[in-house]
Amino acid sequence: MSYSREIPLGEETDVIVCGGGPAGIGAAAGAARAGARVTLLEQYGFLGGMATAGLVLPFGDTQPAIARELFDRLEARGAANGWNYDPETFKLEANELLLEAGVELRFHTAFCDVMMSGNAVKGVVALSKSGLEALPCRVVIDCTADGDVAASAGAEFSKGRSDGRMQPVTLMFRMGGIDLERYRNYEQSDDRMEKALTKARDAGDVSPFTCSVMGFVPVPGGREVVINLSNFPGIDGTNARDLSRAEIETRREVFRITAALRKYVPGFEQAYLIDTAAHLGVRETRQIIGEYVLTAEDIFEAKKFEDGVARNIFEIDIHPLDGIGRASHTAKEVFRAKEPWVDIPYRCLVPRKIDNILVAGRCFSATHEAMGAARRMGPCMDMGHAAGAAAGLAARQNIKPREISAAAVQQELQRQNASG
Ligand SMILES: Cc1cc2nc3c(=O)[nH]c(=O)nc-3n(C[C@H](O)[C@H](O)[C@H](O)COP(=O)(O)OP(=O)(O)OC[C@H]3O[C@@H](n4cnc5c(N)ncnc54)[C@H](O)[C@@H]3O)c2cc1C
Repeated sequence: MSYSREIPLGEETDVIVCGGGPAGIGAAAGAARAGARVTLLEQYGFLGGMATAGLVLPFGDTQPAIARELFDRLEARGAANGWNYDPETFKLEANELLLEAGVELRFHTAFCDVMMSGNAVKGVVALSKSGLEALPCRVVIDCTADGDVAASAGAEFSKGRSDGRMQPVTLMFRMGGIDLERYRNYEQSDDRMEKALTKARDAGDVSPFTCSVMGFVPVPGGREVVINLSNFPGIDGTNARDLSRAEIETRREVFRITAALRKYVPGFEQAYLIDTAAHLGVRETRQIIGEYVLTAEDIFEAKKFEDGVARNIFEIDIHPLDGIGRASHTAKEVFRAKEPWVDIPYRCLVPRKIDNILVAGRCFSATHEAMGAARRMGPCMDMGHAAGAAAGLAARQNIKPREISAAAVQQELQRQNASG
């Protein structure tokens, strides 16, 4: 059996950004501010990716210009406290920031295929309630986190550790009705949550995968918290069957955990579940292989590159691949040093062999270990900003992104940051 159909061809634009998470927000802003016509495709009805749909916070460890701008807007609304924030206000202000930059936001629209001419991407096919549409453009930026666009275009990629195993997934959730004072005071130890969970695990009330990964993060301005407590292993976030199984199992686990918290943790007696994240928290899938692959050694040496266009200032944070126990944090000392960042080279955003496409965010070109550091939302937004600036310049000059010099990208970023 075969299948074919004619689909409508949209008007050409300069840059299409696929995915509206931290990287996509940075990319769309960077490209629009570089003077390009930009359309952003996002499968949900709001921006933020893991920052909102994933209920992941705090926003990690960086000071990229776009993130600072967004957080200034959140602070002005009383919706941020340091790098903690209210996810609902994040959605609102991310919209406003991109609309002001002139970006066309296409929500409820998923990337589903690429249009190619030889090894060059010529546009994307999008799926929405309007049906399938072919959308031509000069440059695509893949900010889907999973490298969906680059993989469809035939880019090479790796997945996980050398044995193919990837970090576990987590369904984040939000609870209210907690007596935070009582919780903080019942034991003077950062391990209080882990101790309570050990009791719950020993009693069989929660699965062995439940551990105090990062505890819980109070959402500013409220008495509710977002909670990150369960690692579910063996899931490939690019496989719909795996994702479905994980959504089912982690949802069951959230209900076991909330009951256990009420039973074992002082301060949680009256606590209730507000919601679970709209999207399962996937930590790792494809790393698109670019002109350079960032390595653990680069992180350990806090390496600076001539073509550095983004920065990571977080240590390697790898959650146990079998889901049991706590995350290992290595290279902490490096980031306490004098120049506490590793540069992310422009080459990490340029996939090998495929033209007219850049990648940014979680799927950038890195080893399993190096992505374990730079997967934080700050560096992802920073990479997005750089990819956006490069794509904007390439589209305006009608050349390939790999022909843009890193110096030109750095200069454009400086110009945007100075005028931002
Ligand atoms: C449980 C968990 C806890 C974490 N904790 C922290 C933390 O405390 N601090 C921190 O800084 N980072 C944390 N991280 C890491 C961080 O959240 C991610 O690595 C980061 O959000 C990646 O940014 P991104 O923009 O590349 O991808 P995402 O945030 O995943 O955004 C991708 C966007 O693309 C959209 N998309 C995907 N595919 C398509 C498609 N085909 N068509 C259209 N749209 C599509 C998605 O809907 C989404 O909006 C955590 C991650 C997890 C899973």
